[in-house]
Amino acid sequence: MVELEDWYYRYSAWSFSKHRLWDLCKRAYYYRYIGIAMKESENLDIPQLKKLKDLNSRFALQGKLIHEVLENQIGQHYLGRGMSENGAKIQYTQRVEQYRKKAKETLIEYFNGETIDEKFFDLIRANGLDQISMFFGVIWPQLKDLEYLRHEKFDRFKVGNVEAIVKVDYISKTKDDKLVVSDWKTGADNEEYESDLQIGTYVLWAMENYEKEPEEIRSELIYLTTGVMRSYEFSVKQLEEIKRKIVEDFEIMNKTYDIDYFPPDPNPKKCLSCQFATVCPHSMAIEQLNR
Ligand code: SF4
Repeated sequence: MVELEDWYYRYSAWSFSKHRLWDLCKRAYYYRYIGIAMKESENLDIPQLKKLKDLNSRFALQGKLIHEVLENQIGQHYLGRGMSENGAKIQYTQRVEQYRKKAKETLIEYFNGETIDEKFFDLIRANGLDQISMFFGVIWPQLKDLEYLRHEKFDRFKVGNVEAIVKVDYISKTKDDKLVVSDWKTGADNEEYESDLQIGTYVLWAMENYEKEPEEIRSELIYLTTGVMRSYEFSVKQLEEIKRKIVEDFEIMNKTYDIDYFPPDPNPKKCLSCQFATVCPHSMAIEQLNR
C-alpha cells in the first residue's frame, strides 16, 4: 500500500498541466505527482525525483521566459510605474544567456544527454525579442486602457467536489464591466491542444471568483508570434461539459496510487524530452540520441 505525505491530500487538485502530462505518459505523471509525494519507497529515489521535476523542457523555455518577463512588466504597470520594452528585452536576453550557461543542469534534453546546440539559444533569443516587440507594439496598446484586475497568480476553486488550480496570465475589465481573461501563447497560432479545456477552466474560475455569468466574460488567447487574438465564447452547456471533464479526469487520476495503474508510454522523441528519462527503466531517450 502506497503511503503519501499529508500535503499531497491537502493540496491535491486538478490542473491543465496535470491533464496534459496524464495524456502524454501516465508513468511520467506518476513520477511527477505521486512519486515525489511518497513517504518512502524501496524502488524509487524520491529526493532524485524531486530534483528532476524542476528541469525545464527546451521546447517550453522561450514561453517560460517570455511569461516571466511580461509578468514583471505588468507588475510595474500595476504599481503605476512605466513599462519598458527595452527593459523587457534586456531581462529576456539575460535569462536566455543564464540558461545557455547552465544548459546541462537545467534543460531536460541536455541533461538527458543531447549535445548542447548554441544555435538553439540564438534562435530563442531572436524569436523571443520579436515576440516582446509584438507584445509592446500590437497587444499591449489594445489592453492598456482596460482596468487592471490581476495577473499571473495561482488560484484554486471548486468544480463539484474537485479542487482545480488556474494561473491566468492577465485579467482586466472593460468600461461596461465585462471581464477580459487573456492568456499569452508563444507558439504558432494554429496550436490547438485542447485550448477549449484550458480557457474554459479560466472562465469557470472567473465566474466563481468575480460572480459573473458566461456572457459577461470575454476570454481570449493572444498569440505573440503573429499578434492574433482568438476569442472564445462558452455556452452554459459547454461549461458543464468542461466541469464534467475535470471531475472525471481527477477521479481517474486518483483512483489508486499503485505504479501499475500508471503505465509507461515510451517513444524516443518523447522520452528524450521527459524529466524522468534518467530514472525510468522504459525510457527510449537513448534511441533518440543514437539517431
Ligand atoms: S522516459 Fe518515456 S516512458 Fe518513461 S516516464 Fe518518461 S515519457 Fe514515460
